[in-house]
Amino acid sequence: MNDLKVFKDMTVWRKYRETLGQKIELGLVPTMGALHEGHLSLIRKSISENEKTIVSIYVNPTQFNDKNDFKNYPVDLDQDLDMLKNLGVDYVINPVYEQMYPDNYRFRLTENNFSKLFCGKDRPGHFDGVLTIVMKLFNMVKPTRAYFGEKDFQQLTLIKDMVESFFMDVYIVSLPTLREHDGLAMSSRNVLLNEIDRKLAPWFNKILKMNISADEAKKRLEENGFAVDYVEDYNNRRLAAVRLGKVRLIDNEKI
Ligand code: AMP
Repeated sequence: MNDLKVFKDMTVWRKYRETLGQKIELGLVPTMGALHEGHLSLIRKSISENEKTIVSIYVNPTQFNDKNDFKNYPVDLDQDLDMLKNLGVDYVINPVYEQMYPDNYRFRLTENNFSKLFCGKDRPGHFDGVLTIVMKLFNMVKPTRAYFGEKDFQQLTLIKDMVESFFMDVYIVSLPTLREHDGLAMSSRNVLLNEIDRKLAPWFNKILKMNISADEAKKRLEENGFAVDYVEDYNNRRLAAVRLGKVRLIDNEKI
């Protein structure tokens, strides 16, 4: 077992970060916890490419436009820390709101184009919250590389663009979506699906992969019991978000 250092106090973490020096190759994997194999694939990649790996576990309230979604977001810190210890992660930061947002979100990072489409249409302010927290994490951690999943394709694209726009000194590494054996994209929210919806959920990806138009895919999803937020094609990719009950699922496939 690895000696995992857990930092809850960001002042303590930032002091510790200074002792590591600027030359260290440090990999950052930002997460909201409730870890699954999708997260672990990013973490394993980081461990293989860096001297040290740090995982952030923080359910970022500013990216939730729906209060209930935030309230119901699954949390299992003890299990997460066990997983990270077993993997050989070096550091975890697990801050509280006051330390991430000393300005109470007075300052935020806004993108005014791509972030307004797709998920941004249904979740106003979502990507402002995402970009702001990721920038804060980059400033606090000063990673060499940061790891993100293609599952959140719009998020990944925006983060890459943010890094380029602000000359941020970090290399963004992206990894493919990990799926359950039935094709459902792994997600922390999957545990919130009831039994009936969990059986239905794999049809989301099956229909997304069909050689049919986006409009036809939307129709088929609706016929199969999904509430569809959007199905749209963008740069050789089909992006989609659906709801089963109160649970929102996203996915994307190359077309
Ligand atoms: P989250 O905890 O949902 O904010 O996700 C943290 C990181 O894990 C993000 O970069 C996600 O894109 C990535 N991620 C989430 N689910 C998966 C998955 N099924 N496969 C690969 N990466 C994922």
